[in-house]
This record gives sequence, C-alpha cells and structure tokens, in this order.
Amino acid sequence: TTIDSLYDSHIALYPDFPQDGVLFRDITPLLRDPVAFRQVMDHWCSKIPSDIDLIIGTEARGFVFGAPMAYALGIGFVPVRKAGKLPGDPRSLTYDLEYGTATVEIAEHAIGDGHRVMVVDDLLATGGTARATVDLARQYGADVAGASFLIELEGLGGRDVLDDVPVTTVWSVP
Ligand code: IMP
Repeated sequence: TTIDSLYDSHIALYPDFPQDGVLFRDITPLLRDPVAFRQVMDHWCSKIPSDIDLIIGTEARGFVFGAPMAYALGIGFVPVRKAGKLPGDPRSLTYDLEYGTATVEIAEHAIGDGHRVMVVDDLLATGGTARATVDLARQYGADVAGASFLIELEGLGGRDVLDDVPVTTVWSVP
C-alpha cells in the first residue's frame, strides 16, 4: 500500500464540523489500524532530520503522533498545552483566532537553550497554532529545525505564516 493511497482510506471527512463550512479531517481510522499507523509513522519519521533533540507536540493530536515519533527516534517529547493545564511557572503565548484568541503553554525548564526542536501536529490549516508554538519554543532559546504535519490543507496560508521554518508534511491536500 502506498502512503498516498492511505489518505483516502484512513482519513475520514466530516462536512460542517465543528461548524458550518468546515470539512473536518478525522484521524480515527488511521489510529485504529495498526498496519497503516505503523506505515505512516515510519514514513513520517524518515522525514525528520537526524540532529533533533526534542519533538514539540501540540495538544491534543500532536501528542498522539509526536510521542510515538519521539519514542521511535529515541529523543525527548515536550507537550504544548492549552492554557491552565501545566503546574509551576510555564511560559505562555496568546495568539489570534478567527473569533477570539487561544493560548499555548510549555512547562518551565522543558526546553533548554540551544536545543534543536521539531514542532509536530496532525494538521496545518492557517498556521496560527504552529506559529505560536514556534515562537514560544524560541522564547526558551530553542533552535526550531522545522515543523512537520500529517496533513497540510493547501491554500489556507499555513506555509506563508511559517515562512521562517522548514515545513514538511505526509499529505498535502487541496
Ligand atoms: P491552524 O492553527 O489554523 O493551522 O489549525 C490547526 C489546528 O487545528 C491543529 O491543532 C489541528 O489539530 C486543528 N484542526 C484544524 N482543522 C482540522 C481538521 O480538519 N481536522 C483535525 N484537526 C483540525
């Protein structure tokens, strides 16, 4: 089975979720098929540079993919959480959404100065979430080597928003 053909068979499309006009891509069929999940993770991992220290995964689907990726690569994983979930003194960054704002947080001391990190999430749309994650990681002095996504929705400007970061994807779809 080719990686390309797994998109149609293992990503489910739901029109008008979570709101009218949005075509939601659901990863459940991929996650529940162990052969396809392994094939996709192995392929995705092969796109990650070998000199990375940490995978930075965004809540919540960036955890589902980023943690097994870090395990497979033998490197660390740092969760990027929504506001209010982390104890201690996390750094946070608030960014604009279409309606309102959202905040991402990373635990204190989770990233060291000069660590080479890769941002991982399931899906790149407008790039707002990944942009905020890159900027927050840089506040720790991280060297952001790239951002990598399972799915890129083309034409929503995500790559332009991440123009100072190499972007890689498993599937880019119109
Ligand atoms: P962005 O910030 O506009 O690039 O949106 C990306 C974020 O929204 C990611 O964290 C995704 O998990 C989530 N997201 C947006 N659209 C979808 C979708 O169709 N399926 C799954 N997640 C989505």
